[in-house]
Amino acid sequence: VAFYLDRIQQLADLNAYLEVFGEEALAKAKEIQEKIDNGTAGKLAGMVIGLKDNISYKGHRLAASSKILDGYVAIYSSTVVERVLAEDAIIIGRLNCDEFAMGASNETSYFGPVKNFADTTKVSGGSSGGSAVAVQANLCLASLGSDTGGSIRQPAAFCGVVGLKPTYARVSRYGIVAYASSFDQVGPITRSVEDAALLLEVIAGKDDYDSTSAIEPVPAYSKLLNNSSKRKIAYIEETLHSEGLDPEIKQNIEAQIQLLRSQGHTVEPVSFEYLDYVVATYYILTTAEASSNLARYDGVHFGYRSDSSTDLISTYKFSRSEGFGDEVKRRIMLGTFVLSAGYYDAYYSRAQKIRRLIKEKTEHILEDYDFILTPTTPTPAFNIGEQPTDPVVMYLADIFTVGASLAGLPAISLPSGVNKDGLPLGMQIIGKRFGEADLLSFSKYYS
Ligand code: GLN
Repeated sequence: VAFYLDRIQQLADLNAYLEVFGEEALAKAKEIQEKIDNGTAGKLAGMVIGLKDNISYKGHRLAASSKILDGYVAIYSSTVVERVLAEDAIIIGRLNCDEFAMGASNETSYFGPVKNFADTTKVSGGSSGGSAVAVQANLCLASLGSDTGGSIRQPAAFCGVVGLKPTYARVSRYGIVAYASSFDQVGPITRSVEDAALLLEVIAGKDDYDSTSAIEPVPAYSKLLNNSSKRKIAYIEETLHSEGLDPEIKQNIEAQIQLLRSQGHTVEPVSFEYLDYVVATYYILTTAEASSNLARYDGVHFGYRSDSSTDLISTYKFSRSEGFGDEVKRRIMLGTFVLSAGYYDAYYSRAQKIRRLIKEKTEHILEDYDFILTPTTPTPAFNIGEQPTDPVVMYLADIFTVGASLAGLPAISLPSGVNKDGLPLGMQIIGKRFGEADLLSFSKYYS
């Protein structure tokens, strides 16, 4: 803990942490050392972890990197926090992220962007940018992030670390600041596949506080990693021809395909005709859900209240106008629009139907194959401040990650070398529903 605290201070300029729980973590470390000495320590004893700032930890501030939650202190802990604490992990602090997890570069955070440790002029990726950089820069051993459409996988790829989005419903969402409830999942960001497996095995499983959490038993993922069987892997032909795919990323994934073949795996192209629709479908559905979820920030219940408030309506108006950032407002407006009476059928209900088609098509591919392989991102980390004005450019950064989110399937981003400028690249592997054990054992064998 002392090592990390020191390093966090030295590298404060990366802006990964919003708050460090120094004294508390040191005290906890002492307590856990005693447990280790007398043989009663849990599975995560001594694992120093950081929490994305949308995961509630009782008695600690929680802001989702937004001004609107200014001053809010969590009144209960999320289930994932309860579970890691029960296994003696040490929580060292709160990590920066995009505001309400909306973004792909950590630049929508009220607290400013996180810098990529590989090149501090580049973004960390997002929305779990602080979670990825904290692991990349050795500011904690592992972190928890959340992934709605790529927010664990994309920053993991930009930072050269491992990021796993579990199957939808694998991990309880209780105590997580909701963005789009039919997509949101918490997952680990780690330096190794072993650590990801161990963390997932602790946080996963049925929770009475989240009625959508699955009753599916949780395998001991960390004990099932030694499986070197030959697999059948599909790669999506269209991803390699998609507009905006960086040539080095294309070469990188082609080299990975060759490597897998040379190791005796079967790797074949498949066609996925919905690739052009995934981003639009994702943004219609997630903004719709977000507009509803974010209605609770009204200047009364939580956090920030505008000084200009004089009555109830002006409290709502001013608090929300001053408290939310531009990207969050854009999404609330988009979501309200696609749900409005005259447009519901044209957008929201159509997007639901396309979501179903995407899910069925993906599952159909996974009937014949163990995994689907894609690059995690179309480009490596871009410059901080490079894409501030056109939201659609930023939305296209999610093209390879939102598919698994729409289908509710588990997906992992693994480090896949660096480009000629030394920037990390990532490779995404999508698995079958509740197929995390297979996904992790293949990832371990492969990485
Ligand atoms: N970049 C995507 C978005 O802005 C993904 C975010 C996420 O997964 N939380 O919605």
